[in-house]
Amino acid sequence: MTFKDLGICDSICKALEEEGYNNPTPIQEQSIPTLLNGNDLLASAQTGTGKTAAFAIPILQQLYLDHPQSKGPRKIKALIVTPTRELAIQIAESFDTYGKYTGIRNTVIFGGVKQEPQVQTLRRGVDVLIATPGRLLDLMDQGFINVKSIAHFVLDEADRMLDMGFVHDIRKLIARLPHDRQSLFFSATMPPAIVELSGKILGNHPEKVIIKPEQTTAEKVEQSLYFVSKKWKPKLLLHLLQTISYESVIVFTRTKHGADKVVRALDKAGIASAAIHGNKSQNARQKALSNFKDGRIKVLLATDIAARGIDIDQLSLVINFDLPNIPETYVHRIGRTGRAVSSGAAMSFCDVEERAYLRDIQRFINQQIPVIPEHPFPDDEEEEFVKKPSGNTKLPSRFRDSGSKPAGGNRNKRNPNYRGRR
Ligand code: AMP
Repeated sequence: MTFKDLGICDSICKALEEEGYNNPTPIQEQSIPTLLNGNDLLASAQTGTGKTAAFAIPILQQLYLDHPQSKGPRKIKALIVTPTRELAIQIAESFDTYGKYTGIRNTVIFGGVKQEPQVQTLRRGVDVLIATPGRLLDLMDQGFINVKSIAHFVLDEADRMLDMGFVHDIRKLIARLPHDRQSLFFSATMPPAIVELSGKILGNHPEKVIIKPEQTTAEKVEQSLYFVSKKWKPKLLLHLLQTISYESVIVFTRTKHGADKVVRALDKAGIASAAIHGNKSQNARQKALSNFKDGRIKVLLATDIAARGIDIDQLSLVINFDLPNIPETYVHRIGRTGRAVSSGAAMSFCDVEERAYLRDIQRFINQQIPVIPEHPFPDDEEEEFVKKPSGNTKLPSRFRDSGSKPAGGNRNKRNPNYRGRR
């Protein structure tokens, strides 16, 4: 199956080819034809499945072929609403990439920055607007955004919108959109509140597409588990970063404070890293993200909300410094690696208090995550687990080779805190 087979026009196919997209992913294969027919869509799929292209490509094509540019400033014809700034920026980048030969113009608006540059761009006219809910309503209320011409509306990451308390904003927004429109609704999970919301947004007979997380991420990612006591987690992280080879790694912590603490610990050991989370300014987050994307730093610390949807090519490794208490979040996290077509690895640290989370996760993904029994910082709070530790850490196969040098400083020193059996 190719994009051409799905009815995608040459101008967009050319851009996709240049991007190395040879074949559509399952969600693209299932969604694109129905969207090109003008149907509504209810899709249960998460980041990592190729869902952005699944909605961006057919919207671009419909705007390109069905709405030849008339005289005067452009009117907003497609609106994509998404919960976080990072995700909004990435969606705009995707529209730029796939639409580069179509002349379709987009812009992105989000809060936390001055509104003036955003207003200027809106005044010049855009075809596609990508927005977070708060700033969108704000600029609508101020009269800078006219939604009357919107023919395509996408609500992205709907479950996360509700988690983040955007439900009232969304309801307000929907009430102001034209009735005659194509609506697309994306959510990783479909609890009753989400199904109810989707009913308010979508027409009577939306096409339904379900891409199960197990199909997409958990099966493709090489997962491993390290039982470790809480106090040894920073040392284990340092040990791994100094001994394995990787291109880039996102380390997830549960709290913002935890992320900052790890950055400081790594810094002391000569490993450059940066944290993105809600306490950082928008500029600091963007800078950290672009340094990471450019390869200037290889280690990015993130909390779940900040990392939501960040799209980084060739991310080889995710480390769960803390296990999430929601199993879906685990799948989201490891979905940062193993994106759409390539595969990756995910290492998880589990202390004794996190054992219950681990059970829930394993039940959810319907897999036992392979345990790495030998490492220098075992869980000494769990009697039965204490094993003879060995300097020769056994690593998941993809990291075992290592003709290449391990990343990070301080490479050949043995960890001074490794005191053998404890
Ligand atoms: P998403 O689920 O939209 O966050 O996309 C996940 C990743 O898959 C992104 O890095 C996309 O650039 C990539 N991607 C999406 N569709 C394809 C495709 N058909 N072929 C190759 N890569 C893709």
